[in-house]
Amino acid sequence: MIRINDIIDKITSYFPDADLDIIDRAYIYSARVHDGQVRLSGESYLSHPLEVAGILADMKLDVISVASGLLHDVIEDTHATAEEINAMFGEEITHIVSGVTKLSALPFSSSSQARQAESIRKMILAMADDIRVILIKLADRLHNMRTLEFHSEKKRIKIAQETIDIYAPIAARLGIYWIKKELEDTSFMYLQPEEYSKIESYVNRDREEGEKYIETVKSFIQKKMDEHNLKCEVLGRYKYFYSIYKKMISQNLEFEELYDIIAFRIILDTMPQCYEALGLIHALWKPVAKKFKDYIGVPKANMYQALHTTVIGPFGERIEIQIRTREMDKVAKSGIAAHWSYKEGRRFDDKMTKIFSWIQNLVEHQEDFRDPDEFLENVRIDLFPDDVYVYTPRGEIKSLPRGATPVDFAFLIHTEVGNQCAGAKVNGRIVPLQYELKTGDTVEIFTSKKGHPSKDWLNFVKTVKARSRIRQWIKIQEKERSISLGREMCEKAFRKYRLNFNALLKSEEMHKVVEHFGFKHIDDLIASVGYGKITPLQIVRKITPKPDEEKEHESLFNKIIGRVRKKKPSEGVVVKGVDDILIKFGKCCQPVPGDPITGYITRGYGVTVHRTSCINALKMSPERQIDVEWNIDINDTYPVKIRIRSYDRVGLLADITANISKNGANILSAHTETRESKIVDIYFTLAVKNTEHLKRVLSAIRKIKHIQGVKRIDA
Ligand code: MN
Repeated sequence: MIRINDIIDKITSYFPDADLDIIDRAYIYSARVHDGQVRLSGESYLSHPLEVAGILADMKLDVISVASGLLHDVIEDTHATAEEINAMFGEEITHIVSGVTKLSALPFSSSSQARQAESIRKMILAMADDIRVILIKLADRLHNMRTLEFHSEKKRIKIAQETIDIYAPIAARLGIYWIKKELEDTSFMYLQPEEYSKIESYVNRDREEGEKYIETVKSFIQKKMDEHNLKCEVLGRYKYFYSIYKKMISQNLEFEELYDIIAFRIILDTMPQCYEALGLIHALWKPVAKKFKDYIGVPKANMYQALHTTVIGPFGERIEIQIRTREMDKVAKSGIAAHWSYKEGRRFDDKMTKIFSWIQNLVEHQEDFRDPDEFLENVRIDLFPDDVYVYTPRGEIKSLPRGATPVDFAFLIHTEVGNQCAGAKVNGRIVPLQYELKTGDTVEIFTSKKGHPSKDWLNFVKTVKARSRIRQWIKIQEKERSISLGREMCEKAFRKYRLNFNALLKSEEMHKVVEHFGFKHIDDLIASVGYGKITPLQIVRKITPKPDEEKEHESLFNKIIGRVRKKKPSEGVVVKGVDDILIKFGKCCQPVPGDPITGYITRGYGVTVHRTSCINALKMSPERQIDVEWNIDINDTYPVKIRIRSYDRVGLLADITANISKNGANILSAHTETRESKIVDIYFTLAVKNTEHLKRVLSAIRKIKHIQGVKRIDA
């Protein structure tokens, strides 16, 4: 078991001036709260945080990281609280330890793990706003893998699988290859013990011969380079077990057939030397066609540079050789080379490259950061600033753009779920639909068969999918409304001519009418009646051309519709998304421009506009509701009823009417009611331009002597 002094030695070796006080205090505290706890191995629990801290020191991390490593399990596994840690060790360590605790608490269902691996990895990276949280988590996992043998077989397999799916790729992504390799090989050992020991025995059996072979090939290469005065370093080594295994699987080869279990590398000083070395190798051994790759001339997107070639070696075997400069070697090893993008066939974006090279820098060159502020700035990074990762109730992870809401989530799950979305719970609590989702949230959507998208959703949804699906729904809805409105208008008009509109729907005559108006389908014709583009009478006329009767009924029609139609040039209201619809105003509430209004499809005659507060409007069924907005002509006036309560006095009425005229409003009607002695109510219907105008008139009246109150009332 590693001792605290070993850890302190490691730190002082790379950071001689380190303030070790916090390490001492963290050690003492951790020992105290973990006291009495025992690992499955039988060792005291403290051995685990000590080993983790040791791994962090091996990574040459700062004292805060190492101290946090010592404390990483105290919140989760002991009575210690975040408040206590904060009081004793400060905010930074608390933040990191809480971050590690939060990561450990993330639920990942093993059933969807393989499929969701990429999302889980991103979620883990997104959860940690301080990269040291991830590094501690990796060190934690590494030590747990080293002591995995003490778990039950079931648990071993579960943990090993998770390690190979999730944590090894994260280590690779961060460019910490030694951790990646160890995690992979240990997982491999537990997941496929037979394959593992097969490869182990192959390698061991061939070890002596292999070493000899490596030396032979190296000396061939070295000699050739020396002949041409190329100063270089030649390396040859066995690939690690798991990568050998993967090669055998992907190339479908037995171990004996597998030549490239040993990789050679030539490292030179300059780029021209690399090409020269390549020429020499190809002169020495025959290259395998199509196996040559020039990643120096054309670097990979992740900045990886090298020449790769495969040649037929001295014993007729294939040899893989990489040629690169010292500088390129450093970049490749640093992890920017991202086996990530290359091996998983993913594109590596620029931003990522920069971020991960930073992380790598951090791990390797911690000693360069003398300024604590600069250091902090570089560890506090948001790895995925544009995305949030959330869970479905079944534990699947979905990614959404930042700022996305439960409605976006609902549409991501399924269009129907979005269309019928009626409410949402996040982490078990009901939230408004415009709630901004956060990484780690579990989101549950309630649907209702009667539910439907709302136009308001367009104000907060973030995804293109949600937006376009909501728009689509609104469009269909508008068409459906105009069809039902058009149908009612037609039915009524036809009845007046003792015709049955519905019975005629499929008739030859009706078919001709549809064609006459240039439509393909009867629904389009009916919809255009609903939109007000065609009157029902035009259709009736086409069906029954009887001039006399027609005239009579036309006048009847005009008597009913015309009132409204005549007003049409200055209707003052448009139905959103629909041109030319018949509009009339509710007599009950007398909307005036400036009032919030809503429309209701009225049986027979278009849309009636009410104030949204109107009691009659509130009683209408929501299916008949349609959105309308003011579209006023400056010269229009609108009737509105007011009541004035006053002490009766001589000249009162004259004062009021003069005042109203002075403020530019016309009086359409008036009457008075005496309430009790000396109190009188005077009712006026005024013609005003808009609510502003009305307000001006009312406040002018209020100033008249002996007036007690003035208010707008429903008609
Ligand atoms: Mn732990």
